[in-house]
Amino acid sequence: MLIGVPKEIKNHEYRIGMTPAGVREVIAAGHEVMIQRDGGAAIGLTNEQYEAAGAKIIDTAEEIFATADMIVKVKEPQPNECKMLRSGQLLFTYLHLAPDPEQTRLLVESDAVAIAYETVTDNHRGLPLLAPMSEVAGRMAIQAGAHSLEKAQGGLGTLLGGVPGVAPAKVVVIGGGVVGINAARMAMGLGADVTVLDRSLPRLKQLDELYGPQLKTLYSSAESIETEVVQADLVVGAVLIPGAAAPKLVTREHLKKMKNGSVLVDVAIDQGGCFETSKATTHQEPIYEVDGVIHYCVANMPGGVARTSTFALTNATLPFILNLANKGYQQALKDDEHLRNGLNVHRGNVTYQAVAEGLGYPY
Ligand code: NAD
Repeated sequence: MLIGVPKEIKNHEYRIGMTPAGVREVIAAGHEVMIQRDGGAAIGLTNEQYEAAGAKIIDTAEEIFATADMIVKVKEPQPNECKMLRSGQLLFTYLHLAPDPEQTRLLVESDAVAIAYETVTDNHRGLPLLAPMSEVAGRMAIQAGAHSLEKAQGGLGTLLGGVPGVAPAKVVVIGGGVVGINAARMAMGLGADVTVLDRSLPRLKQLDELYGPQLKTLYSSAESIETEVVQADLVVGAVLIPGAAAPKLVTREHLKKMKNGSVLVDVAIDQGGCFETSKATTHQEPIYEVDGVIHYCVANMPGGVARTSTFALTNATLPFILNLANKGYQQALKDDEHLRNGLNVHRGNVTYQAVAEGLGYPY
């Protein structure tokens, strides 16, 4: 199969769909790969590295879309990319179609076959191609929070780990899923005093078994959230109710009782945010202040560490790419129900129920 990897064109998107290591594996399996010139240059993946792995370097996206059997990307195709897709061509990337009627229409019109990373499933009821980005965002939440706690950022001027003779900062993580556990790990690693709140008792039990007394776990309720948040130096919002907007768990009233200069990092901002005062921010202007509390609400946190994110994402996507290339998409989808769950648009039809129902397509 001929696989094409165009350079990402969305604003400030520096990730790329395949690394040189991935290219090497796909080529060893008997396929061919085209990489757009400088597609990985911004994150230190050079044309020479791709060539050494066996890829052909192609100057334009047009050439790639015109000839590849499968397009591998990171972000949803932009309108001009959708228009370059060919009938029957396979597209494997993040799509997030539910809130995007225009992209859905263009994909339907393209007659291509679009498999979305974010709806591929695994045996543990997880989302294996979304999890790596949650891992990145969870770990980054502590880095961003620690930086925001510094005086120059408007923070209280607190060092997360303290020093001998000075108590560590109190970090409260609301939601103990993939983001939450990664945030908690980083905060514990820096020596902070860490509490995780979740509504899932099995999850709290699992966290307790993993980390023992170093990590405090609490059942999440309006009362426990209020008690914890008003004492916290740093609060990380990491809840998810699948398919729904995030619940507003920290209110403006809470802010008035919080310490001046304390920090809220709302990782759940891509689902609307779990703090009442959250609004999406960018890496260029990541923080703002409300009632003396610093808010960090960057909606695409993994983009800030695009190199790490590229490796994390492609580690997870490569086995699926190999499978699709080796078997062809029809056989690969037939053999793997989890990959099949990723199919969102097939030759003019929306094939993902929630998207079809939400946007008024027949299912
Ligand atoms: P996850 O499903 O692994 O974990 C969510 C956890 O929230 C679950 O353990 C669930 O029990 C818990 N929860 C639900 N309601 C709760 C409540 N009321 N109180 C406490 N806990 C509650 O999800 P995840 O992968 O960790 O993702 C968390 C959020 O982070 C999602 O909204 C995701 O889209 C977002 N995210 C954002 C970025 C970004 O760049 N901002 C990047 C990755 C993920």
